[in-house]
Amino acid sequence: MSADQLRDTQNALRAQYDDLCAAGLALDLTRGKPAADQLDLSEPMLALPGEGNHLSPEGVDCRNYGGINGLPGIRAIFGELLGTGPDRILAENNASLQIMHDLTVFALLLGTPDSERPWSQEPGPIKFLCPVPGYDRHFAITERYGIEMINVPMNPDGPDVDICAELVAADPAIKGMWLVPTYSNPTGYTVSEQVARALVSMPAAPDFRIYWDNAYAVHTLIDQAPEPLPILDMAAEAGNPNRVYVFGSTSKITFAGAGVSFFGSSTENLDWYSGSLSIAKIGPDKLNHLRHQQFLVDADGVRAHMARHRELIAPKFALVLDILEKRLGEAKIASWTEPDGGYFISLDVIDGTAARTVQLAKDAGIALTAAGSTFPYKKDPNDRNIRLAPTFPPIDELAVAMDGVATCALLAAAETLAERDS
Ligand code: PMP
Repeated sequence: MSADQLRDTQNALRAQYDDLCAAGLALDLTRGKPAADQLDLSEPMLALPGEGNHLSPEGVDCRNYGGINGLPGIRAIFGELLGTGPDRILAENNASLQIMHDLTVFALLLGTPDSERPWSQEPGPIKFLCPVPGYDRHFAITERYGIEMINVPMNPDGPDVDICAELVAADPAIKGMWLVPTYSNPTGYTVSEQVARALVSMPAAPDFRIYWDNAYAVHTLIDQAPEPLPILDMAAEAGNPNRVYVFGSTSKITFAGAGVSFFGSSTENLDWYSGSLSIAKIGPDKLNHLRHQQFLVDADGVRAHMARHRELIAPKFALVLDILEKRLGEAKIASWTEPDGGYFISLDVIDGTAARTVQLAKDAGIALTAAGSTFPYKKDPNDRNIRLAPTFPPIDELAVAMDGVATCALLAAAETLAERDS
């Protein structure tokens, strides 16, 4: 179908859409959650550590208070997978997002080790760079605390580094940057070594921080996940040892909501963070660290476990891509990413039709992530981007939902093209 034909077939699409509505669907493609069969992969962990088995290999009684940095064994496994090494990483409770939140609040209230004053006492508003499209919950943290967000384009090899460098060099009020370096949410793009080197070495405010949220470091859909970049070493070599905060978690490895989170950074940053953290708590949930350590065993154990996830979700990604190609390929009203990993596919429809597509889908009983969510302030300047999350629904429901989404995108495009003509 060409764009002209699409315009002409508006009535036919409308009829197709009416049928979709009549089907009484209630399908949900909103959030990147693991499906129940993925969670089942970690079910044996519920029996761990087991009665009478509460000592870590180094003899820590995990039932008791203490050990603010987390168990060494689980830190070693994820230090390897996140490229920090075992010593520059802390293991925490169930949400890396909370660590990102707390680091931001601590910097606002106290300033970082490199700040002249708390961020909240800077003379004007402080700002963060936000590669777009990006992750809505990142943007929610900065929005909540009044930090201004500046869109920068996310390219297949990472954020547009020339634009980033120009902005941070010119404005010391830019204090941070959100970034998902591997299989980014939602594009699936991975930051190249060259871009990473440029980001850690560009001249910026001394307390500029890159939130290197490596949530999908091991979530590959191909044979091998990319090797994690030694980003802390790269920053240190560039003379900016405190610039990078590395995050990760087992949320989409074991149990989303009951996993272990990780924070890696320079020793100075880690000490600064745990100084405030140790006021807020006496230690993390070490029994959960222990059961993760026993279940995952080592970095290869994590990779083997992720291969089992891949078996379950790769067919879902393939299905979505197949339906997009079959339904939207010829009409050329959309483009989409074909990720090698992560949890999302980023769909760009023709400008001005994302919100309409999402609304049409909603009215037909298919919940999509709200249009605009992948941008700061929920404002997609082109009303173009839709984040698709294929993992959670059973595959037969996913097929129905995606076919429905394609019908909605086509109808929204046909309406818009017809309007433009009239
Ligand atoms: N970062 C990114 C990029 C994510 O996509 C998600 C989950 N959707 C998270 C962080 C949340 O991680 P956690 O469960 O560790 O808070």
